[in-house]
Amino acid sequence: MSTLRFHAIKESLSRTPIKVKELKRRSEVFGSNVFNETAMRQYLTKDALTGVMEAIIKGSKIDRLVADHISTGMKEWAINKGATHYTHWFQPLTGATAEKHDAFFETIGNGLSIEKFGGNQLVQQEPDASSFPHGGIRNTFEARGYTAWDPTSPAFIYGTTLCIPTVFVAYTGEALDYKTPLLRALQAVDNAAVDVCKYFDKNVKKVNASLGWEQEYFLIDNALASARPDIVLTGRTLLGHSPAKGQQLDDHYFGTIPNRAMSYMRDLENECMLLGIPVKTRHNEVAPNQFELAPIFEEANLAVDHNSLLMDVMHKVAERHNFKVLMHEKPFAGVNGSGKHNNWSLSTDTGINLLSPGKTPMSNLQFLTFFINTIKAVQTYEELLRAAIASASNDHRLGANEAPPAIISVFIGAQLTKVLEELETVTKGKLSPQEKTDLKLNVVGKIPEILLDNTDRNRTSPFAFTGNKFEFRAVGSKANCANPMTVLNTIVAKQLIDFKAEVDALLEKKSMKKDDAIFNVLREYIKSSKEILFEGNGYSEEWEKEAKKRGLSNNKTTPEALKVKISKPAIQLFGDLGVMNKVEVEARYEIEMDEYILHIQIESRVLGDIARNHVVPTAVRYQNILIENVKGLKSIYGDQFRDLAKEQLALIEEISGHIEAINSLVTKMTDARRSLNKENNIEKKAGGYCKNVKMLFDDIRYHCDKLELMIDDELWPLTKYRELLFTK
Ligand code: ADP
Ligand code: MG
Repeated sequence: MSTLRFHAIKESLSRTPIKVKELKRRSEVFGSNVFNETAMRQYLTKDALTGVMEAIIKGSKIDRLVADHISTGMKEWAINKGATHYTHWFQPLTGATAEKHDAFFETIGNGLSIEKFGGNQLVQQEPDASSFPHGGIRNTFEARGYTAWDPTSPAFIYGTTLCIPTVFVAYTGEALDYKTPLLRALQAVDNAAVDVCKYFDKNVKKVNASLGWEQEYFLIDNALASARPDIVLTGRTLLGHSPAKGQQLDDHYFGTIPNRAMSYMRDLENECMLLGIPVKTRHNEVAPNQFELAPIFEEANLAVDHNSLLMDVMHKVAERHNFKVLMHEKPFAGVNGSGKHNNWSLSTDTGINLLSPGKTPMSNLQFLTFFINTIKAVQTYEELLRAAIASASNDHRLGANEAPPAIISVFIGAQLTKVLEELETVTKGKLSPQEKTDLKLNVVGKIPEILLDNTDRNRTSPFAFTGNKFEFRAVGSKANCANPMTVLNTIVAKQLIDFKAEVDALLEKKSMKKDDAIFNVLREYIKSSKEILFEGNGYSEEWEKEAKKRGLSNNKTTPEALKVKISKPAIQLFGDLGVMNKVEVEARYEIEMDEYILHIQIESRVLGDIARNHVVPTAVRYQNILIENVKGLKSIYGDQFRDLAKEQLALIEEISGHIEAINSLVTKMTDARRSLNKENNIEKKAGGYCKNVKMLFDDIRYHCDKLELMIDDELWPLTKYRELLFTK
């Protein structure tokens, strides 16, 4: 056995759970490292507090003088909590979070020093961020970008650093991060939804999109993971034979959480409590060593920040516990991958969840309005939603019979299907008062049952209604939720705007009553959104065929899926709603395509290296042992050796066959890379990487995995699946 693998296994077997220092009652410490309202009341002047609160609630601007007051209070609070540094914390398009720490400490001459943090430092910074992806927005002579404070997401202390959530934009104003378009999309859906809510309740002034994500991940012993260059460099295994036992027995799902993992989770949850991330649920997932963590849902912008922060914290806490967290969507072949369900809803400042069936006829009509408009939005923009979750890593998971397919459809359950069917058949044209009453009674009579029926679930659907929210299940575990949330909220905003225009037209032209007009438009939507509704098995082949007939897109790879982003209607949509202008949309497309290419390129290099530098030499070594053995047999038994060495001779030949296949495939892959790297057209390059490079991964892997099975376990250099997945 290679010394690395030997020591890794030895080390991992000797581990014991780390003792976690328990906090006081969770509710007491929750948010204690967050500059939340409680902290602000204590540290801010009245004017400063009003300024922040108005910015949070109404989105109003904070003037510089007030900013000075806020920064002073914030600094006092942070220093009292032991912070020495501050940073603007943002989410550039790398997918990671970014921070650059500055000390509060400043010298003021004569050997004196103070702690300083002014309004300017709080509100705006100019990090030298020229190496973040920008998709051509910032060319070299205009390389400046700046970060600007987002008061709607509170500052927090992590370690000894005060972190201030910010947006990151180019000097020319274009967004260079995930947060900016998200904030704009949330504003758009807020405006559009408030306008529609006014049909039902004049008092509604704000509608918030809410998000509750469910984070899946793998916990692998750090020593075992470190012995694998593929895990270290790409976050997933590029080869490795399935273990004799996988997830067939379903004995991990919802089972007892292993002690070491439990100790990690407690530690992580404690950190989350201090940071105000309201984590609530933890459990084992389907695959061995796979887990899930979910918070209580929050306003979408905050939830997105919290998920990004959580992913960082997960990695940091894992170090203490000698774990490596794998967030990749498909770290291991043959067992389930990881996703991040995005539970989404809209709620009003009057406390109504607009996707929760109501108790009165009127509130049910309101529910149906938002419910049906969401379905219609998904129907119209299904391809954009697919694009919003596209990545090289998520491609492995979508359609792999464990996650939804690459086809977007909506599941609403039997009861709501029936409700929609009934509504659709209500007489054409204007509703008679009698019918209307019937309808209302019908709706009222039926919908409450939905709340009771929790078994009506369909795990194979990418976008499912689950009683009082939609659950977008196709999102990847590694992804920043901002991208899917931006698209979802944008398309729903657009749909609500169109809806309102149609209803208003009916009200004006036909002088119809309000409820009738709303109902009439909804009924047409029910008819025109049928193609997106699917209640069956999303994993099945029949569905692929059926979806094709229905004209739904089925973009299986990222390069195919991303194309729609720069289509005319998409550019128009994002532009009209003020979410992204053409430059921003095109820049993002370029960045995502580039990222795809880079990912496949890195994986391809790593796979080539491992195959040539680890697998082939090990195979040769084992082959030599066999050859020695055959020679020995021959020297003892003379001509009879052939009978005795049958197995050895066959193995020697088989090994040669695999070595030869690996070498020719790796050469083919390297050549393909070389020629593609000269390609300037990004579509051709990404397409080529997908077709000519990535397509070879499985073949190369096949031969490596065969060798793994054949070669003496003592010689094999890489930690094996059974070691990675079953060490607790
Ligand atoms: P599941 O059975 O899918 O695990 P849960 O009830 O545990 O469903 O909820 C999963 C997530 O959905 C949690 O993060 C929860 O807070 C969130 N959630 C619940 N209600 C809403 C809502 N109205 N809007 C957004 N997310 C919600
Ligand atoms: Mg769920």
